[in-house]
Amino acid sequence: MKRVSCSASVSRDVMPSDPVEVFEPGPPSGGMQRLRGARVWLLRFGVVAFSMVLGALAACLPRPTALASQARRLASHVRARPASMPSPEPEPKPTTLPETVVAPFGWMDEARRCGRRGRRRFCDGPRRVPRPHGEAEARAARLELGTLEAFGRLRAGGASAEMLADIPDAEEKLLWPVPRGFLGRGFGYVRRPELAHRQHRGVDIPAPRGAEVRAANAGLVVYADNGVEGYGNFVVLLHADDTRTAYAHLREARVFAGQIVERGHILGEVGTTGLSYAPHLHFEWWRRAVPRNPTRHFAERPSPQEERRLQIEAQRRREAMSRAAVLAHR
Ligand SMILES: [Zn+2]
Repeated sequence: MKRVSCSASVSRDVMPSDPVEVFEPGPPSGGMQRLRGARVWLLRFGVVAFSMVLGALAACLPRPTALASQARRLASHVRARPASMPSPEPEPKPTTLPETVVAPFGWMDEARRCGRRGRRRFCDGPRRVPRPHGEAEARAARLELGTLEAFGRLRAGGASAEMLADIPDAEEKLLWPVPRGFLGRGFGYVRRPELAHRQHRGVDIPAPRGAEVRAANAGLVVYADNGVEGYGNFVVLLHADDTRTAYAHLREARVFAGQIVERGHILGEVGTTGLSYAPHLHFEWWRRAVPRNPTRHFAERPSPQEERRLQIEAQRRREAMSRAAVLAHR
């Protein structure tokens, strides 16, 4: 079909000038015949004009077949979108950190030392302590760290200048060591008759089993094992200001002797190994060879946002440490 310009054809075809004259009254003789002929002519002309107008309109409007195929294309595009394109909403990031981070190169041989204190039986195991490796293992060997003798010597003093040299400076206030824990039993003598005869040399921080325990200050790991009776899996840090912090009853330790850790580094998980009645951290703070009450020396507890930031930083440090250990091992 010949395509016709819309405006031109309509203006010319719809308003013919001639047919109007046909309806003027003519002379009576032979008038009827002429009128009939004019009607036929007018009818023909009208049909032709009407079809031309329709043709012009059809050429200007989009064809129904084209519309239908366009709709089908759109529909198929919408259906195909979820499969072929990435989801517009990004996957939500996990809000909690992994509970267990497997230490590289395995664990120390499992051991369970059990004993009895009064009527209570306890076990210091199962031993869950990473096997020392890399630079930290060499440092521990050089400084004679990690053994029960080292713990006995360093608990009451005896830190050499060489040990203190590499440790980052300690902050004045201690970081609260269990983000998910609250202060339980305090320091010193208590009224409970079964405990009244002996001093509690630290503070207890009850928390869910597996809750993360972190370094109260930057330090050097001088002991991480379960050889100290009653303490279970146990970590001791030496700090640059010659103080010590100790973390007992851990379900597992995630550091080993010879490692230098920053403030907030994850040392292990809350557990109930050793002489313990329920999952909690027994935390000790030693200064000038004497256990002291740490309660007044804790920094104000961080806000939830600050806690989150600290945890992410601790996670990054742990990953960096694992990578460094893997590289050193190659
Ligand atoms: Zn305790």
